[in-house]
Amino acid sequence: MKYISTRGDAPALNFEEVLLAGLASDGGLYVPEVLPTFSKEEIASWAGLPYNELAYKIIKPFVDDCVEDADLKQMIDETYAGFNHIAVAPLKELGTNEWVLELFHGPTLAFKDFALQLLGRLMDYALTKRQERLVIMGATSGDTGSAAIEGCRHSDHLDIFILHPYNRVSEVQRKQMTTIIEDNVFNVALEGNFDDCQEMVKDSFANQDFLGGRKLGAVNSINWARIMSQIVYYFSASLAVGGPHREVAFSVPTGNFGDIFAGYLAKQMGLPISQLVVATNKNDILHRVISGNDMSKGELVHTLSPSMDIMVSSNFERLLFDVYGRDGAAINDLMAKFKTEPVQLDKQRWEKVRELFDSYACDDEETCKLIETVAQETGYLLDPHTAIGVAAARECNRDTSVPMIVLSTAHPVKFPEAVLKAGLESPQLPAHMADLFEREEQFTVLPNELSTVQQFVAKNVHND
Ligand SMILES: *Cc1c(COP(=O)(O)O)cnc(C)c1O
Repeated sequence: MKYISTRGDAPALNFEEVLLAGLASDGGLYVPEVLPTFSKEEIASWAGLPYNELAYKIIKPFVDDCVEDADLKQMIDETYAGFNHIAVAPLKELGTNEWVLELFHGPTLAFKDFALQLLGRLMDYALTKRQERLVIMGATSGDTGSAAIEGCRHSDHLDIFILHPYNRVSEVQRKQMTTIIEDNVFNVALEGNFDDCQEMVKDSFANQDFLGGRKLGAVNSINWARIMSQIVYYFSASLAVGGPHREVAFSVPTGNFGDIFAGYLAKQMGLPISQLVVATNKNDILHRVISGNDMSKGELVHTLSPSMDIMVSSNFERLLFDVYGRDGAAINDLMAKFKTEPVQLDKQRWEKVRELFDSYACDDEETCKLIETVAQETGYLLDPHTAIGVAAARECNRDTSVPMIVLSTAHPVKFPEAVLKAGLESPQLPAHMADLFEREEQFTVLPNELSTVQQFVAKNVHND
């Protein structure tokens, strides 16, 4: 399996190279040259498989021969054995044909564990084989940081530096990152906001001279391996409610278009999906482009669903590449223009996007109202991101006879502010992290200054 860049000008790579590369050298994102597809019969034959075995079936064609079969199996088995629910991704029924897919039973209580627990193992495996080391640098507004650190902490070949905005992440989120004390884990609290953190990581990727020959690896959803891992739970959820013999619909809280793009791929690979709903908060670029062909950066708004607070959805480029007939030059032009001004898609291309997706944007007030209503109706407590998913599902549902599955991306304990604003009590931390607030923390506060941060990284990376 070869991977090609959405901007058409970078060399095609194999899985291992894509895993370690992150962004393509032409600024594009890597996608498979040809997607694997599965027949209905084949998908049906997977009914009843444990999650790890299903994951192997779906992930194997993407990894191809870059990893020995037995090793791939073992990494997948270990990844999902570390989840705290026997079903790994259990489905809960909220109402008639309305389901919640709980993706928060991993070590850090958010769906990012599905991908990052495997990503860390895959990177470690590839680097061991190559006898190389990699430096991970990432910015986080909360969930990515802890999931990435949990995924990389046991690797002998990775040093991981996570930048979070000082005093601007929730206490649970900060503690989940800063209480992991390992030789290769560095938490930086930057005296700036999330955009400053992201800017610093971007600048560091663009010019890696400060690392003296070592290379940077990516853990955000531009890394193909993250998207790949997320395709699996669309299949598991469908199989659990009678697929592939019946269609299902999904509603997905998304900011960067990573999670919903995995659903789009599942559909292209043969899973009968009748509808894909994009659920966003006030940072609604995805909703604006899907509903009104307005692809323009808005102002960043801080919301009660902070993991979707972004202005630009990087993974949308992967969809545009398909919608524009895989014309890398056209995407290159479009993205160059979008850097400096709002863009509109060609009418015909935009209509294709509208055929594929419905969308809805929800403000904080509606989010809290929904958390409250659902708790009253069913006794089930939603986290604010999932609440937006439920709101969008109800708003956009095209056919109530089809099961609508809302992806629940985080445990409500991670976002107590929204739960309290909804007039409810915040739940208890799960048993395996009940002592989180007593654990020792370690992080370094640094000024919002690129050279200082880069010096800190260069000083702390390990040399073999
Ligand atoms: C990261 C995250 C999202 C958004 O995921 P995308 O990669 O933008 O699709 C939604 N909810 C939670 C809780 C998250 O951590």
